Amino acid sequence: MSELRVRFAPSPTGYLHVGGARTALFNWLLAKNKGGTFILRIEDTDVERSTKESVDAILEGMKWLGLEWDEGPFYQSDSFPLYKEYVQKLLDAGKAYKCYCTSEELDAKRTIAMEEGRKPKYDGTCRERVDQPAGQPYVVRFRAPKGGVTAFDDLIKGTITFPNEELDDLIIQRTDGTPTYNFCVVIDDATMRITTVIRGDDHVNNTPRQIQLYEALGFPVPQFAHVPMILGSDKARLSKRHGATSVIAYRDMGYLPEALMNYLVRLGWSHGDDEIFSREEMIQKFDIGNVGRSASVFNTEKLNWLNAHYIKNGDPERLAALLLPHLSKRRVTTRNGPDLMSVVRTLQERAQTLEEMAERAVFYYNPPTSYDDAALAKFDKELLLAVFAAVTEKLSSSPATDTAEIDGLFKEICSEKGWKMGQVGQPIRIALSGGTQAPGIGEIVATLGVEETVRRIQRVREFVAVK
Ligand code: GLU
Repeated sequence: MSELRVRFAPSPTGYLHVGGARTALFNWLLAKNKGGTFILRIEDTDVERSTKESVDAILEGMKWLGLEWDEGPFYQSDSFPLYKEYVQKLLDAGKAYKCYCTSEELDAKRTIAMEEGRKPKYDGTCRERVDQPAGQPYVVRFRAPKGGVTAFDDLIKGTITFPNEELDDLIIQRTDGTPTYNFCVVIDDATMRITTVIRGDDHVNNTPRQIQLYEALGFPVPQFAHVPMILGSDKARLSKRHGATSVIAYRDMGYLPEALMNYLVRLGWSHGDDEIFSREEMIQKFDIGNVGRSASVFNTEKLNWLNAHYIKNGDPERLAALLLPHLSKRRVTTRNGPDLMSVVRTLQERAQTLEEMAERAVFYYNPPTSYDDAALAKFDKELLLAVFAAVTEKLSSSPATDTAEIDGLFKEICSEKGWKMGQVGQPIRIALSGGTQAPGIGEIVATLGVEETVRRIQRVREFVAVK
């Protein structure tokens, strides 16, 4: 077989939807797995609805996911002369014809068909027409085969057969001379020598028409793989109603590209019971034949679980860099505080998203301006003041700086004073972060530094003393 060539062909009428991203991912994986070529084609023939912003958003989403393409982006709007050329070829070969029926005539016929309970389809008035009324507007229609069936072996769905009777003579060029969608797709896929078309199964009904066009033009017919839709929890097609659907929105919510990628690959594709796939593993194991036939339901909890996994196992330096925009959003600057990488290390164990991590990192850079009263109220004022005094004294008189050493100091305090760890740790957590949701005590103190810790304890001491 010739070298595998696949393409992702988004219409630039919005952002990169997670469903589109999954289609792109399956194409990219198959290309990588087979040493083939992955092409990006922007289907912008609908000039009214296509925008530059949307193209940028799609490219941004693809780049963020790391779905680099080998050829393109190609724009259909650059290929109008090519489409015209092929329309002419079909006309010359008698495989297409000019249709002069007006839309009023067609509408009237459609109404009658509906009234008579027939499926409205073009009745072929101009199919055998020999005169060419000069100066009259026309569309160009494909002379579709009559009778028989058009069938294909879908790599995901198996054999799909359409009776040709169902398919009328498709308009391939409008009265204004512009080519229509299905025709452009065929010309592009054929001239780009696409061998496998992987796309959403909302395009299944276009496929028989496209196959007929390939055959009429004498092009080899590619293989098709129609990927089932992604649904929301209510089993309706995934839409904004269900929450975020844009890839970039997931980035902004603090998801890692590898987590979203891992999540998307499993949405419809499986490899035994495996759940975690690195890019390399996905590439190695991907097989389009293992994509399931039924639609998959988007499950945010599972995505969160994967994201937590990748955060937990991520490189702190990279996570620190990725965390910065989430901190800026909160007006946190890290210049005069602890090293961000150390901060990440204390938080990566438990954060589900970078947003959550940023939220929890704020206290390292901005000392608390208020304290969790309910949490403080669980302790006697005398005990609190005694704890603050003891910890200040212990930390100030010890050269300890790392987590283990500091944890050791807290243990010493507990045994010297007969306190339980909770009686010491919680008040100090409140002193340092304002609340009780913070990492281990040794970790926070080591990360903030003894000096800053003592300063914060002093502040809470004053607050508690005047209560
Ligand atoms: N442009 C189409 C879409 O965005 C895809 C067409 C195709 O893959 O054949 O749904």
